[in-house]
Amino acid sequence: MKKNRFLYTTIFVIVILILILSYTIIKIVTPKKEFPKLIIGIVVDQMSYDFIPRYWNKYSPDGFKRLISNGYFCKNANFIHFPTYTAPGHSCIYTGSVPAINGIVGNDWLEKNSTQLHYCSDDTSYSTVGSFSNEGKMSPKYLITSTVTDELRKSNNLKSKVIGIALKDRGAIFPAGHNPSAAYWYDEESKKWITSTYYMQNLPGWVEKFDEQNLPDTYLSEPWNTLLPIEQYTESLEDNNKFEDTFHGETNPVFPHNLPELKYKNVHLFRDTPFGNTFTKDFAIETIKNENLGKNETPDFLCISFSSTDYVGHKFGPNSIEVEDTYLRLDYDIADLLAYIDNNIGMQNVLIFLTADHGICGNPEYLKSLNYNSGTFFHNVVLDSVNNYLYRTYNIKKLALYFINQQVYLDRKLINDSEKDLNEVAKNVSVYIKNNIEGVKNVYTSSELESDFSFDYYFRFFKNGFLENRCGEVFVNFQPYWIEDRTTGAEHGSPYYYDTHVPLIFYGWNIKKGETSELINMTDVAPTISAILGISFPSGCIGRPIKEVAEK
Ligand code: ZN
Ligand code: ZN
Repeated sequence: MKKNRFLYTTIFVIVILILILSYTIIKIVTPKKEFPKLIIGIVVDQMSYDFIPRYWNKYSPDGFKRLISNGYFCKNANFIHFPTYTAPGHSCIYTGSVPAINGIVGNDWLEKNSTQLHYCSDDTSYSTVGSFSNEGKMSPKYLITSTVTDELRKSNNLKSKVIGIALKDRGAIFPAGHNPSAAYWYDEESKKWITSTYYMQNLPGWVEKFDEQNLPDTYLSEPWNTLLPIEQYTESLEDNNKFEDTFHGETNPVFPHNLPELKYKNVHLFRDTPFGNTFTKDFAIETIKNENLGKNETPDFLCISFSSTDYVGHKFGPNSIEVEDTYLRLDYDIADLLAYIDNNIGMQNVLIFLTADHGICGNPEYLKSLNYNSGTFFHNVVLDSVNNYLYRTYNIKKLALYFINQQVYLDRKLINDSEKDLNEVAKNVSVYIKNNIEGVKNVYTSSELESDFSFDYYFRFFKNGFLENRCGEVFVNFQPYWIEDRTTGAEHGSPYYYDTHVPLIFYGWNIKKGETSELINMTDVAPTISAILGISFPSGCIGRPIKEVAEK
């Protein structure tokens, strides 16, 4: 009996030991899956930080407020490059880098040894998929360094699905990186989501089906009226004011905007309304559903960019009821997206970040009416004035080719052929602009930007935006509140707070609730996501993971 008891006890101990041992082995061999199943990057085009506090009391509990109240809110996130435009902004967020390194120095630029400007994502070696227009002849070929989305795909032999979507091609193409599963953007002519043969030969059936619904026509079949009674828009100027642009066919920029009539006179009408964002949200949900995002073994990544905020913002300016209404409607679109995730994937499985590609400067005429030092540069006037100066000095016509991205592009070939010294011409132009054009704060030549030192605070923004092969010879930094080309509506591009300071929110999955007012560089977003996913940082990354978000 005693012998049996001893035997049973021994067997019991051995079984327990085997169980403990196998559990330990399994634990060592199989790492714990602690990654989100889906990452959703949301970039709101032109969303200045200011739009969070300004409209806070009007937001619903389920959109921006839900993200901020339960997620981690970086209240002082800033871009550190110039120019603060759409393509450089999106590229910075996803590469963790600046134009000087990732190559996206503007929306358009002039390549060295060329005399024609080209668009950042143009690539004529590919064709449009989904319509007969030329709008799909695109690729990310000018993006020099990798994106966080590239690194995710590379980390698991392309098992993760990565998809970029935005009305603007550049808002979809650069976030999705060099080798995504897909990137889709909106073709205004055909009113369809399209792509390029760079990504695929045919649209998936579900995209064609979505396009067949003709949702843009449905959204344009009723007038755009304010979501709330118009007298409640107390954060904005009165509806009828001289600082706003109008749609073609309107006498005044006032509600209701009669979309069913205006659509015949305004080619870009749809994107210039908040419904362009709603349509993007509709398509984003359809993408998650049809591509089974968040339902796979490896994390998927959906990059969404809401472009209509930028189009409405340019037209009406940040103090308009139109912009306020666009944000209140976007708030509901975001709430819809979050609700879809709750019901279909579970927010504990999804990591969301929301930010913007740049902010916005107020309307210069409005700022003047408040006695601020503000004004407008007209690029043609600057270019003509520089060329007249160069003619007087060198007796050669049209030595300056373009004034874009606040840069003078000199005709390098003409200067070379006439045996002039490029650096000397550039220096003379910079002195001329600084001394003769009103509203200029400082001027930097390309050779100054190639050097490493300046006492000027904004020098580093321009240095971060300078890539010799793609930039001009003279960079002009305007005074704060001076913008290019517009007297109605608004513009962005500067290194000043109103253009660099954007909201940055992380939410969902394991993100702890919290906030910080510490200065965070927008180059930190990509390495933060990389650290969470346990993957390599993008190749040209210069940022650092945000500790409070990246560490568990
Ligand atoms: Zn933008
Ligand atoms: Zn813009």
